[in-house]
Amino acid sequence: MADCIFCKVAAGEINATIVKRTPELVAFRDINPMAPTHVLVIPVEHLSSVRDAVGEPGQRLLGSLLAFAAEVASDLGLDGGGYRIVINTGRDGGQTVDHLHLHLLGGRRLTWPPG
Ligand code: AMP
Ligand code: ZN
Repeated sequence: MADCIFCKVAAGEINATIVKRTPELVAFRDINPMAPTHVLVIPVEHLSSVRDAVGEPGQRLLGSLLAFAAEVASDLGLDGGGYRIVINTGRDGGQTVDHLHLHLLGGRRLTWPPG
């Protein structure tokens, strides 16, 4: 989608530190990390938020996003200490980039509940 920053990351039009990618999914370092490891996982296809992941294609996409994030966590050595996966959605969820993305956070003890 034109003017979508994460579509541009997926297309290689904006510099990002790519951690892992497949033809459908990309994992890259968050530019403003909130933990020692903070990676964003996105589908190459533009969906505005998890609200748009509907029906069977949506289920398949969310399953592969989550499994891919778990693989990335493992690759980055987070299995032992654990990690958190978050999908901020809409205004109340604190979403600031309107391209579906999953945050993978690890490397420190995270607090709960979030603010
Ligand atoms: P959210 O607030 O859930 O929409 O998360 C958006 C995230 O994208 C934030 O953590 C930002 O730091 C991150 N971000 C924004 N622009 C970039 C970029 N060009 N490269 C990497 N991360 C980005
Ligand atoms: Zn996009």
